[in-house]
Amino acid sequence: MRRETTDISGAALAQHAGALLEIDLDAIAANYALLRARHPSGPVAGVVKADGYGLGAAPVAARLFRAGCRHFFVAHLSEALAIRAQIPGALLAVLNGLLPGTEDVFLQHEIFPVLGSLEEISSWSTQARRAGKKLPALLHVDTGMSRLGLDFSAVTALATDKNLLAGIGIQYVMTHLVSSEIPNDTRNAHQKEIFDAACAMLPPAPRSVANSSAIFLGPDFGSDLARPGAALYGINPTPAEENPMANVVRLLVRVLQIREIRAGETVGYNATWTAQRPSRIATACIGYADGWRRTLSNRGTARFDGTTLPLVGRVSMDLTSFDITDRPDIAPGVFLELLGPGHGPDEVAAQAGTNAYEVLTSLGRRFSRVYRGA
Ligand SMILES: *Cc1c(COP(=O)(O)O)cnc(C)c1O
Repeated sequence: MRRETTDISGAALAQHAGALLEIDLDAIAANYALLRARHPSGPVAGVVKADGYGLGAAPVAARLFRAGCRHFFVAHLSEALAIRAQIPGALLAVLNGLLPGTEDVFLQHEIFPVLGSLEEISSWSTQARRAGKKLPALLHVDTGMSRLGLDFSAVTALATDKNLLAGIGIQYVMTHLVSSEIPNDTRNAHQKEIFDAACAMLPPAPRSVANSSAIFLGPDFGSDLARPGAALYGINPTPAEENPMANVVRLLVRVLQIREIRAGETVGYNATWTAQRPSRIATACIGYADGWRRTLSNRGTARFDGTTLPLVGRVSMDLTSFDITDRPDIAPGVFLELLGPGHGPDEVAAQAGTNAYEVLTSLGRRFSRVYRGA
């Protein structure tokens, strides 16, 4: 575990930090338990790509492993190598597949490629012949995303010539839904039908279907392995309903200066906000370089002790201003809460005009990171 891992009450850290990102690993473990309960048809993997959705793949993977998770997915081989030691013996798969020349690295570190083309299958089969043993891998079937995975003609080729899969031990056949967060989207059932037809053409193997939202689509989307990412990190998998997941992230940023301005004075670049009354403006040390997106200009909010404070003016690279006129008790040095229970990544995403995934994965590297439950 990392050296800087400590409780938030670690006073020394908090004393010097301009911004604190508190990541509740116990909440991630609780979310994992809830997803397991919602997916009785098979185990639940942890998707920890993009550095664990921006929260730290190594501590997250270690905590999930401790919670009983034995299947992990990343996007890049480099991401798999970075966490291999944290999760001994667990299945660790690379969604982006097998780049030419990387076969030995996969083999050496017991990392499984997710094979999504006949070329990748051929390379892995050749590698198996060279190794003189069966090599494990996952197969990815494209049922509508048109991104990665075997298309119908590739599945047909595999069904016609069984030798193409020689030497490959298929651990799972998987697919990925395009609109799982929209329960009444007919694409969900349609993709499931295409997937079932493809699986019937392939050698019998366990199946993996559901991402976070699909776990909540009900038993039809249950399979031998679910692959949630977002919901583990507290992102709402059921956007039309209340968020069933526990909040994971708190972001606290320090107030640097406070200004009194007169009615008619403006704040920030291009003077996009004008005070309508004598106002107190707090400038906090976070900006778009920290992933606090510029589209939050004049739209975002902060919380302080139960009060919602409007973000005023443009978000700049390192600084953001808030109207604190109604909270005369805010002084330089106090922390404002930008992410936390009740205003999590989903709420900030709505203000910023993006999705919660982008809010989390954009979170910057300048924060002092504090892990609870490590
Ligand atoms: C990212 C990803 C997931 C996880 O999706 P969430 O919506 O974050 O749960 C699952 N499967 C594949 C193929 C992915 O790319």
